[in-house]
Amino acid sequence: MQSPVAEYLETIVNRCKSDRTGEISPASAKNTGIDADQLALAITTVDGATYAVGDADVHFPIESMAKPLTYALAIHDAGPTEVHKKIGVEPSGDNFNEIALEESTGRPFNAMINAGAIAAHTYVDGDGENDRTERIRQHFSKLADKALQFADTEDDTTHRNLAIGHMLKAADVLEIDPQEAVRGYTRQCAVSVSTRDLAIIASVYANRGVHPLTGERLLEPDIVRHVLSVMATCGMYNATGDWITSVGIPAKSGISGGIFGVLPGQLGIAVYSPLVDSRGNSVRGVELFEHLSRDVGLHLMEAS
Ligand code: GLN
Repeated sequence: MQSPVAEYLETIVNRCKSDRTGEISPASAKNTGIDADQLALAITTVDGATYAVGDADVHFPIESMAKPLTYALAIHDAGPTEVHKKIGVEPSGDNFNEIALEESTGRPFNAMINAGAIAAHTYVDGDGENDRTERIRQHFSKLADKALQFADTEDDTTHRNLAIGHMLKAADVLEIDPQEAVRGYTRQCAVSVSTRDLAIIASVYANRGVHPLTGERLLEPDIVRHVLSVMATCGMYNATGDWITSVGIPAKSGISGGIFGVLPGQLGIAVYSPLVDSRGNSVRGVELFEHLSRDVGLHLMEAS
């Protein structure tokens, strides 16, 4: 028999099923086997219980959902002061792939957009490109409590990201070669995850850095607090204001159609539907979060 939680999750997935607005992003369309109909929702509690419905075991590239995870690792490896010197924490109000820096400081606005994420990638410890991406893959795998692999993706966005990389080098934000930085960043976007994996990853953040399944501390609490704060203000790109008022949960989206959200002290939540809107956020994914937040009263500003 299905649990009442899974039953409720199934109901809201069914409520969103018929919406066909949005499109599969050209950045993910190169990956074969994307089915526009796919829809999934999973939650993992800080006690380690996972409830997953729909296509929760279908895999897709993590894309921009890698950004907060790598940012946390960069802060751990290079230290908060060093990283903050090079990457800001202000919303940019621009698209995720904008070729722009903060005027007053010459830094990327934040680590949730490409400029800041490419920079953050380079602050992860590693002796060269392969070492760095392997450290990232291993850290993501620990978060998911499963050996994650790289998907075989072709990235259409590389030229634009290379332009961002060269801009970062010219502004003295990058210490390494910009092409190496962008290759590594592109590879980190290709880590293959399922909705179930993302809910488990999010639950580590909900549990302030201790893995609910293994009991291992993977992140320091102050890094978790910092990263969740930046997700709350910048995680849904230039739709973050709408998101935080309607859903009220720190979250990060990816162009592949996934979104994960973190309710501190309670839950990790993840959704997947590959049809995205003009700002790069999954249309049905946003709807699922809106239902969940409203029905269960998850909005942080209402937390009792
Ligand atoms: N690989 C994509 C890029 O760098 C990821 C962007 C996204 O998920 N929004 O452009």
